[in-house]
Formats: sequence, C-alpha cells, structure tokens
Amino acid sequence: MRTVRRLEGLALGGILLALGACRPAAGDLTTGGTPTVAVPDPTATPPPLPTPTVSPTPSPSATTMPILPTATPADPNAGILFAEQGDPNEPQVAITIDDFIYSDVIQYWLIDFLRQNPDVKVTMFPVGKRVPEIEAQFPGIWREWLAAGHEIGFHSINHERMDLMTPDQLRAEIAEFNRLVGEVVGDANFRVRWARATYGNYGGDRTSFAHIAAEFGLTWVRWSVIPSHSSYAGHLYGMQFPDALHNGDIALFHVRWIDQYWLERYVEECRRRGVRMVTLSQMRLVPEE
Ligand SMILES: [Zn+2]
Repeated sequence: MRTVRRLEGLALGGILLALGACRPAAGDLTTGGTPTVAVPDPTATPPPLPTPTVSPTPSPSATTMPILPTATPADPNAGILFAEQGDPNEPQVAITIDDFIYSDVIQYWLIDFLRQNPDVKVTMFPVGKRVPEIEAQFPGIWREWLAAGHEIGFHSINHERMDLMTPDQLRAEIAEFNRLVGEVVGDANFRVRWARATYGNYGGDRTSFAHIAAEFGLTWVRWSVIPSHSSYAGHLYGMQFPDALHNGDIALFHVRWIDQYWLERYVEECRRRGVRMVTLSQMRLVPEE
C-alpha cells in the first residue's frame, strides 16, 4: 500500500484514490439476506416421468407446480468479504467511480456521459455527505442513476480513514450512508451491497472489516487497475493499453477532470475489444486473499 499512498498524496491530496463500494438499485439482492430462489431438494424422490397418452391432457399436478421467481437471481458474490478483481475469464470489467467531490465534473460531464452511453454501467462510491448535496444540485439524479442500472456503494461519510475508526463508528457510518441514500432515492430500505475503504486501507488487521461485511451482508471492494495512474502493484496504467485493461478488472476512477479523460478512453478501448462494462453485482468476483 506504500505505493498507493504515495501516488494518492501526489495526485490527489488525499481524496482521490479512495476505494469505495456501492450497491445496486433495482432488484436489491441484499436487503433480505439470501435471495429466495427455489432450489431442488437433492434428497427428494424424482417425480415419475409423464407417460405419453393418446390424448395429451395436461396433468392436474402441472398447474400446482411452484413458479420459480424470475426477477431475483441468486447473488453470485454472497458471502465474499473482500475482493479486488472479477473473474479473469469473462470479457467484462467493473468501472467504479469514487468520492463525487467536484460538482462541476458532474454537471458538465458525468450526467450527460452516462445518459449518452447506456452500455456503460458503473458502480459509484460517493462520500455520504455529498449524496444530499448532489441531490440538491441535481434533483432526482440518484434515482435516475439507479434506474439506469448503476449502483451506489459505501465510501464513508466524510472520507476519513476507516482503518482508524472503531467498529462502532464504522457501523454508524454505514447506517447513516444507507439513510442518506435511502432518502434521496425514496427507499427507506436501501442497503448498500458494496463498500470501499477510504484509500483502500484496512489497516493492519482486516478482522473488524470482515465482521462488519458479514454483519451488513456487504463486500469490501478494492481495485485491480487505476487507468489514470502510471503504475501500481505491477500493473500498467495511464492508457498504456493493452496492459491497462484485463478481463475481470475492477477499474478505479474519481469524479475529477483528469479521470474524465481516461474514462472516456477506457470505455473506447472496452468497446473496441468487446469487453462489457458492468456493475459489481453483474460480475463474478474473485475473493481477495
Ligand atoms: Zn475516496
């Protein structure tokens, strides 16, 4: 993490790099714990095969068969506490955008960019205090983004270091974040599915983060690539394609003008390669060791 911190300090003065986490809008998979999907009981005796008859009248039992839910697929990432990349065998990436500090970037770019590029789904990690502020500036924008298929994840309230918070402080911030988002999207039951620690920093011991992930039914998500940076952890960034884009990447961006430049080129490269740009919920994550 030393490299990360150094880069962050240089480039952003502290705010930019953070990692956050978000959660999906439609079809909330997290509020009720494990989604209810009918699973065949492996111990049950298989029903007898229907015997063909001359007159194929439907069996009375056919009308009483349970109907499988169609709108609530099982969460493929349920139970994963930490992750920083997705399945490298799938031609898809998760674009994550953090902080949401600069309103001018939202006003003059991000809103239009997301409207005009519906194939780009992103997971947003705004700091909580910015959620109502952005709502006041752009009424209805959070609902619009969720309705469009983007997701919102937890990234603290004030961008303070989570590794220095007590577990109870962290719990309170998550609850407050849920309340703030729930208020602007009109869903008091809103619960984040994703969380990103500020600066991606869990401190020396992830135990309390693990407990909180299990308790809230969320996954702490870092990233595998920072396309606006030149190097990090052996990866190449700064638009040095093809090395800056891999299947299964979780790409970190921030709401700032330099990232607007890189994000637009990242999207172009994804399209050129036929790589889908999906939310975290649409990606099968690799548990982080
Ligand atoms: Zn951040």
